[in-house]
Amino acid sequence: MKHKNQVFDNVLDLVGKTPLIKLNKITSPFKGNFYAKVEAFNPGHSSKDRIALYIIEQAEKQGILTPGDTIIETTSGNTGFSLAMVSIIKGYDCILAVTSKSSADKIDMLKTMGAKVYVCPAHVSADDPRSYYEVAKRLHQEIKGSVYINQYFNQLNVDAHYYSTGPEIWKQTEGKITHLVACSGTGGTISGTAKYLKEQNPNIKVIGVDAFGSVIKKYHETKEFDEKEIYPYRIEGLGKNLIPSATDFDTIDEFIKVTDEESAHTARMIAKSEGLFVGYTSGAAMQAIKQLGEEGRFKSTDCVVIIFPDHGSRYMSKIYSDKWMSEQGFFDSVNAEAIKKIEYIK
Ligand code: PMP
Repeated sequence: MKHKNQVFDNVLDLVGKTPLIKLNKITSPFKGNFYAKVEAFNPGHSSKDRIALYIIEQAEKQGILTPGDTIIETTSGNTGFSLAMVSIIKGYDCILAVTSKSSADKIDMLKTMGAKVYVCPAHVSADDPRSYYEVAKRLHQEIKGSVYINQYFNQLNVDAHYYSTGPEIWKQTEGKITHLVACSGTGGTISGTAKYLKEQNPNIKVIGVDAFGSVIKKYHETKEFDEKEIYPYRIEGLGKNLIPSATDFDTIDEFIKVTDEESAHTARMIAKSEGLFVGYTSGAAMQAIKQLGEEGRFKSTDCVVIIFPDHGSRYMSKIYSDKWMSEQGFFDSVNAEAIKKIEYIK
């Protein structure tokens, strides 16, 4: 691992050590100091580089994986991209089972990174043999020397953030962090980061961001899995219709829900006010900050860290497309106010 003069042995040496960037304009209405952990600076443009590299290296250490073996996962998103990237460098085959809901762009991106992509029907139940879960399981059973990453139920997903994201934030804030705000999908990011930070200072408040249409917030509050909470929503990577074991509910103080519409506008506002081109869930995390700020939850001495999980380029045909935004009704009259605010902050 040579890091001298910014010369690296390969792209994987650049995973992690992402910058913490002060937010100056978008948070100006609120008391406190706000910093974004900008995970788009990872070489695969998202926080999932950390778990892909960590999980694969742990499997290598345990002798489960040797070059030529196969990595399997069910995802069309950031985790798939990161696993494909790590597989190229380390010499593994990478198989990703995705649903037919995944856009052609996403599938092409994974193929470009050398992955074999199995496209499975989207509208079948999880236990149907054609579902992407079952296809991945079957491939794992059939292929000798394969590892199924299974990020929602893999403790190593949490550990990756415990050993990297948490210590980085503690060091970058010189131990001054008072609040951590992060989206929860698998829950790996928030759980691992929060566990490390709370070991340093148990008074740090940890706030998870959840979507309307997801069961996570209610489960945190009641320990009840309520199917009535489930309905379709647009933000990808946030919230869930099941309870992932990678979410450590005890390390999270509270969850806050955000809408698809406000999160989309807020992501666009981050770009226009801070010059940071980040993804949909970064908008969701920032939207949570706005809701908390409007409730007067922050003091002027607070040091609030917000995790921005990925890069905006992955959302060009969604939140950064005016056509898509208007098709969703996100430019309708209710938003006149929000759009005015964006103009104001510019
Ligand atoms: N944002 C995006 C864009 C993601 O892909 C994910 C992962 N599903 C998250 C946020 C949430 O991270 P985690 O899975 O670690 O909770």
